[in-house]
Amino acid sequence: MYEFAVTPAVTQIRRRGVAIAEVAAGSLGAELELEPGDRVMSVNGRAVRDYLDFRFQTAGETEMVVDVRKPSGEHWELNIERDEAEDFGLSFEQIVPRQCANECLFCFCKGNPETARPSLFVRDEDVRLSFLYGNYTTLTSITEEEMRRVVEQRLTPQYVSVHATDLDVRAYLLGIDKERADISGKMQRMFDAGIEIHAQVVLCPTINDGEVLRRTIGDLAGLHPHVSSVAIVPLGLTRYLNDPRLTPVTPEFCRRTIREVARVQRDLRARLRTTFAFLGDEIYLRAGRAVPGRKHYGDYPQIEDGIGMVRSFENEFSAFQRRLERRARAPAGPLARAPSELFGTILTGTLFAPVLRRQVERINVRFGTRLHVAAVENEYFGGDVSVAGLLTGGDFAAARERVRGDFVIMPRVALKSDEPIMLDGMRLEELQRQFEMPLYAFDFAGLADMLESTTTTARVPARGTQAGAASA
Ligand code: SF4
Repeated sequence: MYEFAVTPAVTQIRRRGVAIAEVAAGSLGAELELEPGDRVMSVNGRAVRDYLDFRFQTAGETEMVVDVRKPSGEHWELNIERDEAEDFGLSFEQIVPRQCANECLFCFCKGNPETARPSLFVRDEDVRLSFLYGNYTTLTSITEEEMRRVVEQRLTPQYVSVHATDLDVRAYLLGIDKERADISGKMQRMFDAGIEIHAQVVLCPTINDGEVLRRTIGDLAGLHPHVSSVAIVPLGLTRYLNDPRLTPVTPEFCRRTIREVARVQRDLRARLRTTFAFLGDEIYLRAGRAVPGRKHYGDYPQIEDGIGMVRSFENEFSAFQRRLERRARAPAGPLARAPSELFGTILTGTLFAPVLRRQVERINVRFGTRLHVAAVENEYFGGDVSVAGLLTGGDFAAARERVRGDFVIMPRVALKSDEPIMLDGMRLEELQRQFEMPLYAFDFAGLADMLESTTTTARVPARGTQAGAASA
């Protein structure tokens, strides 16, 4: 029996099967005369709900019957034989996220201006996207069908927003009742099936900090190694998310949290041989403290959640500088242009600007380049939003007056991953028109290419383009 302890928000009408989006030329799919728009309905009699199902049901199969529905309504039954390694050459429609049934106090959707891109209002809570992209779910409304799927298809790891193991606190934060807040049975079922969980805590001062946080970490550590890490990230308030029950995160709060958690981390490292509970980079930066060293982060289990990004960037930048040094020392011909001609501005969020500025100034001093880092305020979201990835076209445009030199670099991470558009809907070309000089969207690799091609004779073409790719 399915668990229907969910609101209509999570109930979606889905068409059966999965639509093919592209068929690679010369592939098995093309040979079978499959075309974009065809729907794969089943494989060996088992229904296909999305491309994960297709992947799972065809994996390792060399002979199979695939049921396809053409857009005309025609029905094909394909008897297929293939070599084990032979790929179908098919791309499928994206997974439509299933939505959550919570009313979290701090939900990011409430922090958006009304004009934000519609995709920012999607409250996804989907174990498939958790497995594929590391999106967090709360497991509060996972259905029996979804649970069976996680187990059967071994969708591991899963990323779970726990926030607090004290059920009163968890229920309060998620805006649900205590019974639904209790996911201990669901987690146990996943552990029994060998599913690994990475947990998250959104730290809200006066609600789930202090003793509640210590207990949460302790309870989750008791589930190690099934729970392999906990990311503790600070509450983010925007000018639109101003619920009086939420208390802003201050530098003093961050310093206290670092002190308190450092004691717990020492104990965990001694017992579990891993830091296990990691504080988000933002907590260290807002506290005005250096981020921990490389060893603290192990294999960076939650880097996508902003855990260890700064350490990883600094190490990568230092390695890059050493490489530049070696190249600069090697006997070679004259440089195509003087490094001092590399005169421009790198725009980034206020949180990361001091970190980037430190590194860039080392390069300026050593090689004579003239790069200037400008911190851009986030006017669009306001509040304490300070990360580069949430800057908008309007924010960058407002920083025009502070730009120096012959070009501008903006962080690639502020663009949608598959389209050159920012969160306020401004397209990159439109922003570029507002500057009187070239504007590039670079990630670290793009910036490194630009520096390398100017400071050494081992010239490398710049990878970023005016519509190209930086999480500077
Ligand atoms: S924060 Fe996440 S789980 Fe909570 S209401 Fe928003 S989308 Fe749902």
